[in-house]
Amino acid sequence: MNDASASFDLLITNATAVLGGARDEQYRVVPDVSIGISERRIAWIGEGHEGDAAKAVKLVDAQGMYAFPGLINTHNHLFQNLIKGLGDELYLLPWVEMLILPTADEMTPEETYLGALVGCLEAIRSGTTTLLDFMFGLPDIELHRAVMRAFQDSGLRGFLGRAVRDLNPDSGHRDPWFLPLDEVFEQMRQLAREFPSGLAVPSVLPAPGTMRTMTIDGLLRVVDYAETEGTQITMHMGEYTDERDISIERWGVGTFAKAEEIGYLSPRVVAAHCVKLNREEIEIMARTGAHVSYNPVSNAYLGNGIAPIVEMLETGVAVALATDGGACGNTQDMIEALKFAAVMPKAREEDPRVFNARDALKLATDAGAKAVGLPADLGALEVGRLADLFLLDPYRLKTVPVHDPISALVFQSGQSNVDTVVIDGKIVLEGGRFTQVDEQALVREVQERALALSRRVGTHWLAKGRRLTPWGHGVTIGGHGEWGKEASRGGTGDHVARGPDQQDPAPDAAPASSADEAAGAAT
Ligand SMILES: [Zn+2]
Repeated sequence: MNDASASFDLLITNATAVLGGARDEQYRVVPDVSIGISERRIAWIGEGHEGDAAKAVKLVDAQGMYAFPGLINTHNHLFQNLIKGLGDELYLLPWVEMLILPTADEMTPEETYLGALVGCLEAIRSGTTTLLDFMFGLPDIELHRAVMRAFQDSGLRGFLGRAVRDLNPDSGHRDPWFLPLDEVFEQMRQLAREFPSGLAVPSVLPAPGTMRTMTIDGLLRVVDYAETEGTQITMHMGEYTDERDISIERWGVGTFAKAEEIGYLSPRVVAAHCVKLNREEIEIMARTGAHVSYNPVSNAYLGNGIAPIVEMLETGVAVALATDGGACGNTQDMIEALKFAAVMPKAREEDPRVFNARDALKLATDAGAKAVGLPADLGALEVGRLADLFLLDPYRLKTVPVHDPISALVFQSGQSNVDTVVIDGKIVLEGGRFTQVDEQALVREVQERALALSRRVGTHWLAKGRRLTPWGHGVTIGGHGEWGKEASRGGTGDHVARGPDQQDPAPDAAPASSADEAAGAAT
């Protein structure tokens, strides 16, 4: 249908729309656009004043605003939104050991729901319309249901990567996390039935933590599950320095080479991070068509580095964008991720020309749509695609003047610019207000419950006694060895020398285990 006289469920008029951006098309910024939406899809796009004659059940006048395709966040751990703010200055391993695992062990389904819901709302407020989550492999299905309910209640289009681990490390207190693969797959089928996506791709997909927490047989069974059920697969790859060496020790080749050798890598796979890729590994990703989920804020926050995005894109790797979990950068803000996505390559290559705002938007839309397995349904404002979009109000101090709306979105906007968000044809944010959730009541509850949770788990001490760095008194950079093992010995994971009056309260639930266990249980 492309008929201006038709009646729509929702009609957006007078927008300046960012069209194109799919396939090999350039973006086009078109004024006076009307967008007619029926039965969850974009039914009509009128350029110029064609839309005047159209009728609609609900009308939104977007005068003065820019319409963008909804942003797609391809890597997350939503439950972490209840524990953000506690992990500053921790290397990856101590961060996992001291903050993430003890909390994940303790969180109730209700707390998981609250963390996920507040994350979904923050995502929506930054123009996000689709999010791929990576939920840790806790056996209780209620915890996974909690994330799915948060998607449902917020209106966000969500996919749940359910963590899978079949290598059962010799880990005392975390053994309760282990579930045989058959049971994990059955749980995933059950959740996908309970929360149908209504699309070609089911709402639940397998998410092995890393290569090292899986057997080869387990990885192949994951591929088999994905092929049978028509899902994507997501996994952390190349996030930290030592992954390649650990893989060489185990298999004689690096992670990427092994994954390709066994036929694991394909366009079904969304590999989160890929910070530490060498030339050969970049070529493997290009050759296999596997997607990279680029997490620039998380990679910077956790000190993991800057992914070689320019070289990847130049080599033909499919790269999408993400924020990572709420505790991996303390944000679900995809507008912030867009800016990091664009500026980090400039910093890495010491060249401002290597990556631009349009490249960033493409990663967060068209490339994200491909990563989640819905290349023709999401990622662009186009007739026939699902109606996922947002309206950006440019009249903010941070934003004006606007010469180029795409550049303005990426480099000079924030959550306060996002006026209206439509997901699956439904308005979930209108005039800056959520239509389905009481935001103020939620944020107040989250503040209270998060403090109570950190006291219960014993992680509250991580935010205590923070001080200025004692510059000139033995601050060391790097040399943290295997996953920050060295750094974790001090008890806080802090590599910075401490002043004599700075004491660390003993954590109530400090885990005592090795890097291997943490890596295993983290999934
Ligand atoms: Zn992750």
